[in-house]
Amino acid sequence: MTVTALPKLLDDVKNGHRLTNEEAVSLMNVRNRDVFLIASAADEMREKKVGDTVTYVKNQNLHVTNICKNLCGFCGFGKREGDEGAYCNDIETTRAGARLAKSRGVTEICFLSGVHPRFTVDTYVDLLTCVHEVAPEIHLHAFSPDEISYAAAQSHITPEEVLSRLRDAGLGTLQGTAAEILVDSVRKVICPRKLPTAEWVSIIKTAHRMGILTSATIMYGSYETARDRVEHLSLIRALQDETHGFTEFIPMSYIHTNTPLYQMGIGRPGATGREDLLMIAVSRLYLDNFNHVQVSWGKLGLKMTQLALLCGGDDLAGTMYTDDVSVDAGASDASFLDPVVMERLVSDLGRNLKQRTTVYEMV
Ligand code: SF4
Repeated sequence: MTVTALPKLLDDVKNGHRLTNEEAVSLMNVRNRDVFLIASAADEMREKKVGDTVTYVKNQNLHVTNICKNLCGFCGFGKREGDEGAYCNDIETTRAGARLAKSRGVTEICFLSGVHPRFTVDTYVDLLTCVHEVAPEIHLHAFSPDEISYAAAQSHITPEEVLSRLRDAGLGTLQGTAAEILVDSVRKVICPRKLPTAEWVSIIKTAHRMGILTSATIMYGSYETARDRVEHLSLIRALQDETHGFTEFIPMSYIHTNTPLYQMGIGRPGATGREDLLMIAVSRLYLDNFNHVQVSWGKLGLKMTQLALLCGGDDLAGTMYTDDVSVDAGASDASFLDPVVMERLVSDLGRNLKQRTTVYEMV
């Protein structure tokens, strides 16, 4: 992009121009101090959309099992049944996790597990039911489209029927995970056993049609190109135009250290700092139909997280308490972030930290 073209493009975006895919790719590929022009424009967009509030949710992850049918190349958490360290908790352990979450005063419990090859819709219903019985006031944010697809196949029912049963058992919102990169040629390399793009889209559309809101995610920095990232953003923007069912967009930077993709020399050693900041900034500029762009502190580390809040990010995700998926892949300090520390990062930027619910109501 020429010296004059970038400021003009960014001004146009601030005045309502919708970024084209070509333009977004060129922004993703900027390599010099112009990164800060893009970040600054994204920060202005954030200010215009949601003001100076930075939000977080008080939540806790529950890991039920790390046994997984998918064994994705970018993952250090999933294991085969019988592998050393493989586990599958019983219902009583899950119930104890829910009691602990309740005692901590969380407003959201997230299920974060492998896709166990023997789980059916009944397993997922039992899990939700036991947590809902212990803590009916806590919002359950659970399961990916891949888990829905697999439960449907295992139980010989449709994804819609799975979602309906889960909603009856207490499901609040569905996780927009298992998206990774919504480009099938990339999925074939990084997560070949996960559901294909069209099915991910179909299940998300079904959930939204049923009034079940979801998050939207991207897992970047492993194998894909800037163009693949933009293709992913394009699909997410079109879906949001159609359904308005996404609560937020969550860029998740690839943690590479303990993952087969990296160890086999196929995956890169993660995104660079430039790519992390541009991922947040270009997401903010491109996704003009999203209010919230989340910064995943467990993936970025605290100092990069604070910078990402200057590049269009407005949400700090949650307290988590435990995130073995990130830790097993090689992240340090990914388990718990105290709101006191969040407050320090946010007030240092002259902004206000507020606690929110899963669907962005202020607590
Ligand atoms: S990313 Fe999720 S689906 Fe893939 S192997 Fe890990 S736990 Fe399983």
